[in-house]
Amino acid sequence: MAQFDYDLFVIGAGSGGVRAARVSAGMGAKVAIAEESRYGGTCVIRGCVPKKLMVYASAYSEMFEDARGYGWTVPEASFDWAALKTARDAEIDRLEGIYRKILGGSNVEMIDSRAHMVDAHTVGLADGKRVSAKTILIVTGGRPALPDFEGVEHTITSDDIFELETQPESILCLGGGYISLEFACVFHGLGTKVTVSNRSTLLRGYDGDVRAHLIEALEEKGIDLRLGVNPVKIEENAGRKRVTFDDGNTLTVDAILAATGRRPNTDNLGLEEAGITMGRAGAIEVDEYSRTNIPSVYAIGDVTNRVQLTPVAIREGMAFAETVFNDNPTSPDHELIATAVFTQPEIGIIGLTEEQAREKHDVAIYRSTFRPMINVLAGREEKMLMKIIVDKTTDRVLGVHIVGHHAGEMIQCAAIAVKMGATKADFDRTMAVHPTSAEELVTMRDPVTES
Ligand code: NDP
Repeated sequence: MAQFDYDLFVIGAGSGGVRAARVSAGMGAKVAIAEESRYGGTCVIRGCVPKKLMVYASAYSEMFEDARGYGWTVPEASFDWAALKTARDAEIDRLEGIYRKILGGSNVEMIDSRAHMVDAHTVGLADGKRVSAKTILIVTGGRPALPDFEGVEHTITSDDIFELETQPESILCLGGGYISLEFACVFHGLGTKVTVSNRSTLLRGYDGDVRAHLIEALEEKGIDLRLGVNPVKIEENAGRKRVTFDDGNTLTVDAILAATGRRPNTDNLGLEEAGITMGRAGAIEVDEYSRTNIPSVYAIGDVTNRVQLTPVAIREGMAFAETVFNDNPTSPDHELIATAVFTQPEIGIIGLTEEQAREKHDVAIYRSTFRPMINVLAGREEKMLMKIIVDKTTDRVLGVHIVGHHAGEMIQCAAIAVKMGATKADFDRTMAVHPTSAEELVTMRDPVTES
């Protein structure tokens, strides 16, 4: 008789957990996965995917306006929140079905239950049942972290946005990170009056030119930015919310989105009892192979608070399977991760910011700000920014930063070159694709003159 019920028990069926389960099963392991909510996790159910569908929906308002410049007669457009919600929810149901089908087809046993750690080889289920596994993988993800001030219970989080039955007429997006800004642009595009507030600037830690470009673009669109302020109190009156900021100003809106970071989902999982070492912000501490201090227990994805991105969790899941079930110790590569912020305009980045690069390198900066062709006949003033940061000594490209249409798509391609160690000379000898905005990446010849 086998010593354990399973070779692998995965707690949490988000992007990382599903991939790790499927690949491990493909390597011959007997695998079970437990999920208390829906298969697909934050990314598919209440994050990247439904958010991107809303980004697409919201972009149409500017497209309708711009179409007139191209000769179209566009009748007055109207937007139906309920219709979008129905279509979006149906798509998420479809994707969840695919996740379940893939797992079933891979011979992974799905257990629709909350699960918690009991000891190094035992997992407890909600019905009191206990199962044993040679290896346990914790992939429970993260959840929104709320700030602490009076009336914070009147805010909603990004999870709640997808449940809203009606579109708020006005919204305050709290926080200057990915989530606040992406939803600020979504709501603005759908016709909601939007204010963004943050205690510091927007996208702190991003390249200064990128931040300045985005701030200008958002203000130009009519999004009210309140930077360097914190809310101290929210009061509710007849369904509306009145916020008082620490500079004494107030604002009354229909909804307040609190997007002030996310924290690992490690509460009530039996982790302390099982003796698992926790680190910064309640995250599970792991080594370079995603192994915890207990040799039979691993953790990947947002619960480890390394890099909170879906593709990273997926790669960590694949590296885990390779290490544990293919006898090939593999560390996930966290160097040079390209990301996109789906604001409007969109941002795509890979590598160092100018500020980071200047700390360690003698740098040359190539920068181009231009009005993309699509905006000319449209009569839209919005500009695009492209910036390349180069190490003067080695000519290596240290960072690429793009703000504008399709920046996310472009940065994926630029990231291959940067990951390969491309030099500025490699960019320069690459023939341009004309007429595109992306050609600017290979036609910037002169560095910005130092002031
Ligand atoms: P971020 O960490 O990106 O931003 C949090 C924001 O909230 C910052 O502006 C921060 O201000 C502010 N803040 C933090 N704590 C407080 C506090 N106690 N009071 C007031 N303000 C506070 O978090 P998000 O919630 O936007 O996103 C979480 C993560 O999800 C991201 O880091 C990203 O990895 C991932 N994500 C990725 C997306 C993508 O790839 N497109 C999309 C959405 C999410 P300050 O800057 O001053 O610290």
